[in-house]
Amino acid sequence: MYYVSTRNKEDRRTASEAIEKGLAIDGGLMTPEVLPKLSHNALDTMKDMSYQQRAVYVMNSYLDDFTSSELTSFASKAYGGNKFDVKEVAPVRQVDGNTYCLELWHGPTCAFKDMALQMLPHLLTASLKKNQENKTVCILVATSGDTGKAALEGFRDVDKTRILVFYPKDGVSAIQELQMNTQEGENVGVCSVVGNFDDAQTGVKKLFSDEKLREQLAERGFFLSSANSINWGRVLPQIVYYISAYCDLMRDEKIQKGDPINVCVPTGNFGNILAAYYAREMGVPIKRLICASNSNNVLTDFLKSGIYDRNRTFYNTMSPSMDILISSNLERLLFALSDHDDAQVREYMAELGQTGRYEVDKTIKEKLGKLFSAGYCDDAETQKVIGAMWKEHHYLIDPHTAVAFDVLDQYRKESGDDTPAIVVSTASPFKFCDNVLGSLGVTQLAEGTDVLDQLSELTGIPAPAPLAALKDKSVRFTGSVTKDHMVDQVLEMLR
Ligand SMILES: *Cc1c(COP(=O)(O)O)cnc(C)c1O
Repeated sequence: MYYVSTRNKEDRRTASEAIEKGLAIDGGLMTPEVLPKLSHNALDTMKDMSYQQRAVYVMNSYLDDFTSSELTSFASKAYGGNKFDVKEVAPVRQVDGNTYCLELWHGPTCAFKDMALQMLPHLLTASLKKNQENKTVCILVATSGDTGKAALEGFRDVDKTRILVFYPKDGVSAIQELQMNTQEGENVGVCSVVGNFDDAQTGVKKLFSDEKLREQLAERGFFLSSANSINWGRVLPQIVYYISAYCDLMRDEKIQKGDPINVCVPTGNFGNILAAYYAREMGVPIKRLICASNSNNVLTDFLKSGIYDRNRTFYNTMSPSMDILISSNLERLLFALSDHDDAQVREYMAELGQTGRYEVDKTIKEKLGKLFSAGYCDDAETQKVIGAMWKEHHYLIDPHTAVAFDVLDQYRKESGDDTPAIVVSTASPFKFCDNVLGSLGVTQLAEGTDVLDQLSELTGIPAPAPLAALKDKSVRFTGSVTKDHMVDQVLEMLR
């Protein structure tokens, strides 16, 4: 199977090339030329498998140039041992009669980014070998919090890789900052950038297009790459958990094979919900894909009207990983829904670049309406949902997950559609203690990492071990630069 650029389908690559490059040369996203379909007994076969085995089964159908034994080894390194704190890896928990929650935060950094970033380093380093790349890859990341830590943890001490993370000094929570600054590993670097996420992101983009830097690094035996969610190696591992969740519901006899389900996904860059779309295309009986946003509701408007317009106020919300106005992975959906019309995708993306707005044609609009529903939820409502979920179900959820529960509720009320639904839970509530405690009515917050104990004592739920361990970790990284000095930091680290 080959991968093509969403902006030029003549640009065909093998899976390992697509993963190595991250982005196509024309700026498009590498996307499977054809989506594999699940065979008629695939779900039955996977039903009794472990998560690792399911991952191998699904990924195998996308990665022609990788062997099953390679994938088996990657899956066991990524999801086996005690990397995840539950053996199911991505457990499905029943909330009420027809509502389930897919918990994706049991990994080493307590957010769903681990599901892909524990796998990506293995796919990437194997891809480099297959393509006879001898240089060491340096992953540069600009993060608003969760991606940076998950990438550091995924690439830590992985052979032939370095990783350097830039985060905005004024843009991450205290826990998130501590998680990154205490990162262990010989090949890692962390540095804050004066300013907000946009400053860090713009800075990193500039580094990627810096010809002189590229030459200097090549002389030292390095090249730059990205662990951003535009890399196919991040989308693919995410398809697995949707299929896995359906298999769990079948195995536990909550549904019969073939029964429809809905999924509701808290969305930022459109990577997670795109994976659900691909799972549906492969044959998982997903009826509706429900896209949940916070007050940055550019996707809600798009899915309802067909008009994408980023010219709007940006809000800092209590679900920061969804504070995003340009959802990069939407480009892959446009490519699919336009029947791989690369010229059309190019045009939309050019309009987005020039005016910040585009409107899709009637055909795409109709398809969007058939597949997707969308809604959003502001901070006040998010708090209410966290409080109510705890009170009614004794279930503690983080603000991102709360947004999704609220949007599912809105959808059910508006449509009367009571199909069993899976809400995707993307972070541990302990990652966002301040806002979760606030939602439970606490007004006096403890200092620093003591908020973890405070939330634990209030709810009787222990904090996840990686977060509880932060107290005793020493800070390794204190560097801070202005946007214009990020290049010095890279050269300093890559000696
Ligand atoms: C990244 C992230 C999201 C958004 O996921 P996308 O793939 O960007 O849509 C939602 N919740 C949490 C906790 C995240 O870290």
